[in-house]
Amino acid sequence: MRETLKPRPAVERYVMDFEDIDTIAVLGAGNMGHGITEVAALAGYDVRMRDIKDEFVEDGYDNIEWSLNKLAERDQLTQEEADAALDRVTPLVDVEEAVSDVDVVIEAVPEKMEIKKDVYTEVEAHAPEDAIFATNTSSLSITELSEVTERPEQFCGMHFFNPPVKMDLVEVIYGAETADETAEATYEFVESIDKT
Ligand code: NAD
Repeated sequence: MRETLKPRPAVERYVMDFEDIDTIAVLGAGNMGHGITEVAALAGYDVRMRDIKDEFVEDGYDNIEWSLNKLAERDQLTQEEADAALDRVTPLVDVEEAVSDVDVVIEAVPEKMEIKKDVYTEVEAHAPEDAIFATNTSSLSITELSEVTERPEQFCGMHFFNPPVKMDLVEVIYGAETADETAEATYEFVESIDKT
C-alpha cells in the first residue's frame, strides 16, 4: 500500500540487501516488541531488544522465555532450539548499544507520533547508515515518521499482528519515499522469519 502516488526519488545511498541482514534491533519490549523479538530470534537472527527501563526489558525477556518454553513443552520445537533462540536475544536499555551495529531496526514503541519521532531522532544518531528502519505502527503515517530521519528511502512499515508468534501475516508498507530495494529486503526478511 502506498500513501501517495508521487514518484519516489532514485536511491542515493546503499540500501541493505536481505542477504546482509544478521542483526536486528527491536525497540520496545511490550506486547509487540517482545513477540517480534521472539519470532526473529527463532528464525536465527541476533536481536537486541531495547526498552527504556531495566524492568521493562526484563519483563519482555521473561515473556519470551516463558513462550519459548511453552513451544518446547508442546513439541513445536526442541528445548535446545528454545534455549538457542533465547541466547540470541540481548536485552538492553542503552540505545546506542542497541542500534549501533544492526542491519534492521524494528520500532514497536507506543502508538504516539511524538514518542515515535523522538525515538527515530535518537536512533538516527547511532544506527549504521545503511540500516533499514521499520515501524510496527498500526495507524500513524509512515511518511511523516520517516521524515524525521535522514533515510526516508530506507524506511517502511513492518506491521505484525498480535501475538506475533502466532499470527502469520505481516504487512510491509511503503511510505511516500520508501525505495523499492527497502521494501524488497523487508519483504524477504519477513518471509525469512516464516511470516506471510
Ligand atoms: P506496549 O505498550 O505493550 O509496548 C510499548 C513499549 O515501548 C513499552 O514497554 C514502553 O516502555 C516502550 N517504550 C516507550 N518509549 C520507548 C523508547 N523511547 N524506546 C524503547 N521503548 C520504549 O505497546 P504494543 O501493544 O507493543 O504496541 C507497540 C506498537 O505496535 C504500537 O505502534 C502499536 O500500535 C503497534 N501494534 C500493536 C498491536 C497490538 O495488538 N498490541 C498490533 C499491531 C501493532
